Amino acid sequence: MIEMVTAVTPRKLRPAPEPLGNFIRPGYNDHTVIAQALAEGRGSGSGLVINPLHADRQRPLIEHARAAGVETILDSKSLELSAPGGYAMHGVPELPWAAAEGMHSPLILSGMEGGRLVRNLSEYAAEAQVSAILAPTHFLDDAESPWWTIDASLTRRLRQNLNELEMTSALIYYPVMVRTSTLMNPAVMAQLIDHLRRLPVDGVWLRLHPFGTTKSGPLVLKRYLQLCRQLHALGIPIVAEHSGSVGVALLAFGAVGGIESGVTFTDTVNLDGVLRPPKPDARSFAPAPRVYLHQLSAFVDAQTARELLSKRGMKALHGCQDTACCPRGWVDMVANPRQHFLRQRAREVAQLSAMPFSLRPGYYMENFLRPASDRAMRAAEFEPSLAAVRKRLDSWRGTLGADLEQHSEFTISEPAAGRRLRVRPSA
Ligand SMILES: [Zn+2]
Repeated sequence: MIEMVTAVTPRKLRPAPEPLGNFIRPGYNDHTVIAQALAEGRGSGSGLVINPLHADRQRPLIEHARAAGVETILDSKSLELSAPGGYAMHGVPELPWAAAEGMHSPLILSGMEGGRLVRNLSEYAAEAQVSAILAPTHFLDDAESPWWTIDASLTRRLRQNLNELEMTSALIYYPVMVRTSTLMNPAVMAQLIDHLRRLPVDGVWLRLHPFGTTKSGPLVLKRYLQLCRQLHALGIPIVAEHSGSVGVALLAFGAVGGIESGVTFTDTVNLDGVLRPPKPDARSFAPAPRVYLHQLSAFVDAQTARELLSKRGMKALHGCQDTACCPRGWVDMVANPRQHFLRQRAREVAQLSAMPFSLRPGYYMENFLRPASDRAMRAAEFEPSLAAVRKRLDSWRGTLGADLEQHSEFTISEPAAGRRLRVRPSA
């Protein structure tokens, strides 16, 4: 009998970096595609933000998400409950933790009502079995806002209530909702860091107004990077809310450990609609999903996508070549825009997650941003509206390139990996 001797060099096992957060906020009509993604084990993102206003459609997702190791984060809708535009939205005054007296105000929530809010919110979370909650925080106008103290108290009581309901493993994420200009004041930033250090929170969700993929000029992006880096002192994950495509750049540069956006929408923070009184003719409607041009990290409507892709050379440049994503290429990309977006965004985040941090910024610059800006130039010849996309990509290149030159090393956010969750997605 011949003994087989195989020369096996033991492979050094390096612990894989913890996955970055890819949070998806499903809209009214997105529950079906998310359910499908959860069943397939791909494209659902690492966490779903559950909207209690769409409970009928979204609560059934929670159990499937848990089985798939995907986080479920209950949105407390605290901003909507405390601002005129938000309070006028359908269903908001009827939430179980809304106050009988009307819109939440500092006066109402500093009394007994605050305790009632937290109790009802915690009970809802326990019953729904979500894995995390967005703390009921409010818009901070300035350093003197009464919400600082009230929100701290609500958050502490939330932790206590959750623990009493045997939800000790449920995470609390703290939404910081503030104007970028307010946070640029170093005293306010110092106050925020001190404030957050004292709270039992597992992550900071940044809702900086205004910000987003289409509102990320050179100065805004630079400021966002700076503000995030100051928050790294907290040692907990930072998540860029409604950040969309620019969020992927923030992830690559380590500014945040997670991003959050809607399904082809909600990639911009603009709180005006919530904070201001509603317009008399305001109506909410669910628009048709946009088509994700993943090579440009940009969205266009279905008609524009069809026209662009019918032009010479454009199918090869912008059609989805990923047969695991869109087996029929560009046809599927336009026919199933939600699925294409979810899978491509998951791919973008997974690629960054898989590589050591030090390689991520260079990878993003060379493998995405540089080719994207060349492709955008060609696409804009056929579709003039894409000239704005090209301008945006060039601007990001300038800002991020300068950032890399200025810093030989920089701090990075903890990955928003849902640390208390023990189940991991298998795919
Ligand atoms: Zn695709």
